[in-house]
This record gives sequence, structure tokens and C-alpha cells, in this order.
Amino acid sequence: RTVYVNGAYVPENEAKISVFDRGFLFADAVYEVTCVLDGKLVDFDGHIARLRRSLAELKMTLSVTDEELLAAHRELVKLNAITEGLIYLQVSRGEADRDFLFPAEGTPATLVMFTQEKALVKSALADKGQKIMTADDIRWRRCDIKTVQLLYASLLKNEAKANGVDDVWMVLDGQVTEGSSNNAYIVTADGTIVTRPISNDILAGITRASLMRCAEEHQIKIEERPFTVDEAKAAKEAFTTSATGMVVPVIEIDGVTLGDGKPGPVAKRLREIFIQFSRDAAI
Ligand code: PMP
Repeated sequence: RTVYVNGAYVPENEAKISVFDRGFLFADAVYEVTCVLDGKLVDFDGHIARLRRSLAELKMTLSVTDEELLAAHRELVKLNAITEGLIYLQVSRGEADRDFLFPAEGTPATLVMFTQEKALVKSALADKGQKIMTADDIRWRRCDIKTVQLLYASLLKNEAKANGVDDVWMVLDGQVTEGSSNNAYIVTADGTIVTRPISNDILAGITRASLMRCAEEHQIKIEERPFTVDEAKAAKEAFTTSATGMVVPVIEIDGVTLGDGKPGPVAKRLREIFIQFSRDAAI
């Protein structure tokens, strides 16, 4: 693979990052994952807008323009001949002697990007539906910033695997916040989609925003409010959204089967709608 490191396109085994990089030592870094469909970028503008917000919240500066980021994404797609998959982008506060205090102003950020080929539209998990378990949301309360502090999510995914389920929904004060790496939704008896409103407690998913537009265009009602685990277990359907998963139905929560145990019609329809929308809007 050819990867991008601070302006250079290099073979992955020649890419170098300092041992003193703050991303490595302090998880002082933010990231984005943009999908590639048909060799084109899905919701690039949304991902870059969220990247800028994450950087601003952490007072990090990146002297690379949006146009340059777009060009780099396209160059990586081309160099690695990606038709379907993703581009991972990470910005850290750069390299400095280990110190909790930020490095001197002018210390350049570290920007790396790489591609990953991956089938997105065809998904065994989406066909089958995912089983979910729940766990306390013990993350810091700035989950709106997309940092690389993913240790808890990683622990939870491994716990899910050990328990024979596919993923974890996190619970704060009795209510579901989000999945370990996705936003969470339930579908009520009258077909309304319910999802937690945007706040510091969840990541504002780019897929979430697109899904809401899709739902609106197709006259599917969305209600933004928190919901409990009990409400989720009693729901007609449930599903998650993320850039790489798109829309993935949920068929079980904490051992309780939803509906008939198969992906529900609303989630399946939204997945179809979302895939078409993404293909049409990709640049
Ligand atoms: N919440 C969390 C915690 C995530 O890690 C992700 C995926 N990065 C999402 C939500 C979904 O965001 P997006 O739709 O932008 O991929």
C-alpha cells in the first residue's frame, strides 16, 4: 500500500512517525474515516467539517487546506486502486519532548492517511443482523470530539466477541448513548425512528446526518430523544449507522430477540436508500 505522511506518498513499510509523536504518547490526535464507493468519496465535506471542529475543540492547528485534503484523498484512491473501502485520516499535535503541556506554537501537526480495501455494500453482518450487548458508558464526556482514544471501544468490542455477540451499546444514566463505533437507533410500534440527540455524550455521525435527510425525503418520521435499554428491547426494530457499516440492522439486545429475529423492514429499506443516496452524492 501507498500511504500519506505529512505531504509525501510513500510505501507503507517506508513510512515513519516519531516515537515522540503526541498521538502515540498522549492519544493527542483526532481522526476521520471516509468511505469510498465506486472509487468516489462519500460525504467528504461532512467528514472534513467534523475534522475541523475536532481540531478546533482541541486547539490543534493543521496547515493543510480542505482542497489539499481532497486532493490527497483522491490521490490515495488512485495510487491504491480502491473502488470500495475507506480512507483513514489522522492528525496529531505533532512531535515534541514528552510533556503534558502542549508543544510550542508552530510545532507542525502530524498528518497521516491510508486506504483500506473493504466490501461495504455487500455485508454478511447487515444481511444477518447484529446481536448487541450493553455496557456502562464510562468514557470521558467529550465524545463529540473524534479522538483516537479508542481503548474503551476496543475493550468493549473484545468483550462482545467473548460473549458471542457482535457489538456493544453504551448506557449512561439508564439511557443508550451510542454503539462502540456507531450511532444507535430504535424503531417504535408506529414506525418512528428514535435516536439520541446530538450532545457532548455522542459523536455526531456523518452517516447519522445523511440518514436523517434520507428519512425526511422518504417521509419516515425521526424523533431525537434518549431511549432506555428496556425501550430498545421492546422496540420493533433497531439498527446502527456508521460510515463503514452504513445502516446495519440489530436483531438482539442483551439476549432479547427483536421482532422475529431477522433484520426489520425499516432498517433494510433505510440501508437501501442510504446506499443509493451515498452513490449518487459521492464525489
Ligand atoms: N459514534 C462513534 C463512537 C463512532 O466511533 C462512530 C464512527 N467513527 C460513529 C458514532 C459514527 O460516525 P460516522 O457515521 O461519521 O462514521
